[in-house]
Amino acid sequence: MADTRRKNRCSFCGRTEDEVGFLITGMNGFICDSCAVQAYEITQEAKKASQKGKNRLNLDELPKPAEIKAFLDQYVIGQDDAKRHLAVSVYNHYKRLLQQDQGDDVEIEKSNIIMVGSTGTGKTLLARTIAKMLHVPFTIVDATVLTEAGYVGEDIESILTRLLQVADYNVADAEQGIVFIDEIDKIARKGDNPSITRDVSGEGVQQGLLKLLEGSVVNVPPQGGRKHPEQKMIPVNTKNILFICGGAFDGIEKKIAQRLNAHVVGYNAVRNTAAIDKKNLMQYIAPQDLKAFGLIPEIIGRLPILTYLNPLDRTALRAILTEPKNSIIRQYVKLLEMDHVKLTFEDAVFEYIVDKAIEYKLGARGLRSIVEAIMMDVMFDLPSQHADSFVVTLDYAKKQLEKANLARLQSV
Ligand code: ADP
Repeated sequence: MADTRRKNRCSFCGRTEDEVGFLITGMNGFICDSCAVQAYEITQEAKKASQKGKNRLNLDELPKPAEIKAFLDQYVIGQDDAKRHLAVSVYNHYKRLLQQDQGDDVEIEKSNIIMVGSTGTGKTLLARTIAKMLHVPFTIVDATVLTEAGYVGEDIESILTRLLQVADYNVADAEQGIVFIDEIDKIARKGDNPSITRDVSGEGVQQGLLKLLEGSVVNVPPQGGRKHPEQKMIPVNTKNILFICGGAFDGIEKKIAQRLNAHVVGYNAVRNTAAIDKKNLMQYIAPQDLKAFGLIPEIIGRLPILTYLNPLDRTALRAILTEPKNSIIRQYVKLLEMDHVKLTFEDAVFEYIVDKAIEYKLGARGLRSIVEAIMMDVMFDLPSQHADSFVVTLDYAKKQLEKANLARLQSV
């Protein structure tokens, strides 16, 4: 009979070293490979469980509106009105969730938001930035892919699929989440008159969306896309989901101007027209302009907070280039720092980049393309040149940009 007494054993399961894959030696005992794996799994479970407790909202720990705005300020230039509205809305969203936990009888209703501003002024950036500091599941969806049930495209319910996915299919968590619906203007009714013909991507979609905004239980396809009869639906209640919508509403300034003009015909006309800042009509946006643009009144009613983004002027573009925490220029400096190269720019280069972005009407999105065109050769050559610094001069920037043929960038 073999002598098993003198063999090393796992201090947890008691098996000998022959019976296990291998033993890890500790101070006063051993652990076998399978017990180590089990121990790891137990710690992971315990971690998850304690995390769940921590995820419970606690008003004292939640960022206050001013803190949310200060956070947004680090990444997004200007757009104060939109930032303040977003901050308050998100904070109120938390409060509403907390209050429901306490079973209070004053029911705080949710205030979905709509942000209107030309393309490239920071709507999506605001949404992405706020997502970084949220304590609830968050997703961005694009309204352009939505169509009425039965048509090519995605069903409205698929908006919630993404939310379920980020909440790890935990329905209770998803039901407290926030959804950013981008390009909401693309589902506006074409033309001001209700049409009797079918409007695949317009009013029908708005009616569908209305159901979600109002708060109802909808069946969500867990894998998204079209509903398949064989796909098991997950019921999700949208009552507590906060919806933030964003859209460029191209041409809405005309509707705003029309309304303002109509209003200033009275005897106060002279004073009122003088006060209107014609260069930035967006700031006067009102719900009736959204209606004139083609959103149905019921949807507008469910988006009670209306805010706007300013067009980006020269000063804003110049600031976007260098000021945000992850500005384009900082990103390039960082990239070369990793190759031990200190990258600097002459101030005139920044002015030049902004000039070109304005001249070619490229907006904030174009700033990146311009910087990329200027930096292409530097990024290619420097890492293998053992240089320890590089200064981008105005002459160099001009030469590089001419070489890159800026006109090409206009298609951005
Ligand atoms: P949209 O309003 O069309 O959603 P985005 O948020 O996608 O515009 O902006 C496009 C890009 O332009 C952003 O990724 C960012 O680099 C830059 N940008 C736009 N507006 C701002 C801003 N206010 N502050 C900082 N960067 C901005």
